[in-house]
Amino acid sequence: MNIPKEVQKILHTLEAAGFEGFVVGGCVRDMLRGVAPKDWDITTSATPTQVKALFPRTFDTGIQHGTITVLQGGKPFEVTTYRIDGTYTDARRPDSVTFTAQIEEDLSRRDFTINAIAYNPTHGFADPFNGRADITRQTIRCVGNPTHRFTEDALRMLRAVRFAGTLGFVIDPAAINAITALRENLTRISAERIREELTRLLCGTLPGALSLLESTGLLPYVLRGTPYPAPLAQTVQYLESAPTDETLRLSLFFTPFQQNGSAPTVEKIMRDLRYDNKTIHAAALFARLLPHPIPAERYAIKKILQQLPQDLVKDSFEKLLALQQITGVSDTAHNELLRQLADDVLSKNEPYLLKHLAINGDDLHATGFPRGKEMGAALAGLLDAILREPAANEKQILLNRLHGGEK
Ligand code: ATP
Ligand code: MG
Repeated sequence: MNIPKEVQKILHTLEAAGFEGFVVGGCVRDMLRGVAPKDWDITTSATPTQVKALFPRTFDTGIQHGTITVLQGGKPFEVTTYRIDGTYTDARRPDSVTFTAQIEEDLSRRDFTINAIAYNPTHGFADPFNGRADITRQTIRCVGNPTHRFTEDALRMLRAVRFAGTLGFVIDPAAINAITALRENLTRISAERIREELTRLLCGTLPGALSLLESTGLLPYVLRGTPYPAPLAQTVQYLESAPTDETLRLSLFFTPFQQNGSAPTVEKIMRDLRYDNKTIHAAALFARLLPHPIPAERYAIKKILQQLPQDLVKDSFEKLLALQQITGVSDTAHNELLRQLADDVLSKNEPYLLKHLAINGDDLHATGFPRGKEMGAALAGLLDAILREPAANEKQILLNRLHGGEK
């Protein structure tokens, strides 16, 4: 077990003060799978007050749930007191949490056996639910009775599918049956928590797990009451051939909402799921551009470049090409042509935005042109001509064109 030295130091400090400390959850699961953990969570018998007294630099991140962030070697680590979740009345959040001195009690509140293993270099493993065996069997199994556990917190149903997709594990049949029976409870879960798990599922290595959302009937509840507007198998096939980039995966998943008139728009469904504006704009733009093949000529390419976020124009164009290739709108050879043309347009600084024009509204106004809608249309007209004729982007030429209509 390769535990970073900062984490070992935290465990040691807790033990030297007479408490227990274990790494727990995703990091133990990932170590056992031979995958480098992305973060290290620590669980301890010390109360939050005791944790704060032991470490010089801490933050009260989630103190009401027992979590203190400890800064060790300049890095943050979450240290959470062993706790038992109180009763659940809303299928969402425990009504209360109680701290306990027994690690087994803390492990028993966790969702799946593979996530309920703790490890400490002096004690070895605490694994009361045989999570290690389930990692070997590549099985997602609930800690305890699936019906009870999914009734307590309905998000766990979606988490089961998310872990199936990110780990490539299978879900135990008893859990699948419970999900199918209890799927409607997902309506009680906040859009934010659903979005978080959906995004992780879409960005996982095995997006094929999406089909479990369909077979269990969870999918319309994930989508806040809306049926998915296309055959899911097609989307799965696209996702499987896409890199794990979040914008690409979200665009592929949400594009069918753009193409089906009766379904909500991409913007609407993503807003309902509380995606942030930047993410929504990117996915909606790609969804809109995706179905239309781009001719291999400079004018058409500039019309596309105009619509992309300018701080990431090359990267966004590249993503659009990738999406078109995945969905069969374009192919490698055509994309290579488009890429060369776009590179050439950009490296030669050919004008394609209003702000690239050699004149602006003030220049027009100075020649007596009234401000307003008409001026906007006049500038847009000039720009459109300049897209085909970049050499004519000179102030005098443009003014002549405008006033005389001649060249
Ligand atoms: P990842 O590596 O993808 O983050 P993770 O296992 O760390 O996976 P988190 O969502 O970060 O997943 O949760 C951390 C741990 O907290 C889990 O391993 C699990 O033990 C516990 N946990 C998280 N959410 C729930 C839940 N809804 N119900 C019960 N236990 C949960
Ligand atoms: Mg985690």
